Amino acid sequence: MAITKTDFMRGMQCPKMLWLDKHRPKLKVIPPEVQARLDAGNDFGDRAMGMFGPYEEMTVYHPGTQVPDKAAMLQRTQEHLAAGTPVICEAAFSNYNNYCAVDILRRTEGGYELYEVKNAPAVRPQFVRDAAFQYYIVRRCRLPVERVFLVLHGEDEDAPFVPVDVTEEVKGLYDWVNGHIWDLNRMQKQAEEPGQEPGAQCERPYACWYYGYCHAQEERE
Ligand code: SF4
Repeated sequence: MAITKTDFMRGMQCPKMLWLDKHRPKLKVIPPEVQARLDAGNDFGDRAMGMFGPYEEMTVYHPGTQVPDKAAMLQRTQEHLAAGTPVICEAAFSNYNNYCAVDILRRTEGGYELYEVKNAPAVRPQFVRDAAFQYYIVRRCRLPVERVFLVLHGEDEDAPFVPVDVTEEVKGLYDWVNGHIWDLNRMQKQAEEPGQEPGAQCERPYACWYYGYCHAQEERE
């Protein structure tokens, strides 16, 4: 695969973060509280799959692993699109090997609605950028997308899934995604480590898992 949604988001926060993911991932240190938050987000996402009733999930793992089999997911998604399945979860799309899996794809009369689930109480700019990457890939695959929503975690735990329409913001980022995706593709393949200095991007929007490595490197220089 070229650039996934996660790659894109990490590369846009810091190119060196994406490069280290590809070339030196063992340097990564994920704090336990961050892992707990990621696990809670995955659990919320799993529960949200049923927010529109029955659904089909596209996730396929390589045998004996928890590693997604992206080729199998792409094929399964195409089969369900062709069959007109009303709600497809983890719907996989690829364009020039750039890849994303959409949390929830819901068929409408004229096309589809795309839902990105976030275990958070409010819209944040990085959530919109995340949805914009998916919209870009899905549109490049020529699927008609009518609306794009973030699904937030509302206060009512009996009905916690709160969709917020971000269609216009996401469409406005199409050219921005196109303007960066190919640069990140090239950069992640280069042999040399990018000479990125630590700075505000080490903390925002997410604390970087290479913080210890880069800051130790900075002290040595
Ligand atoms: S610690 Fe900072 S400079 Fe190093 S990879 Fe992370 S964001 Fe980039």
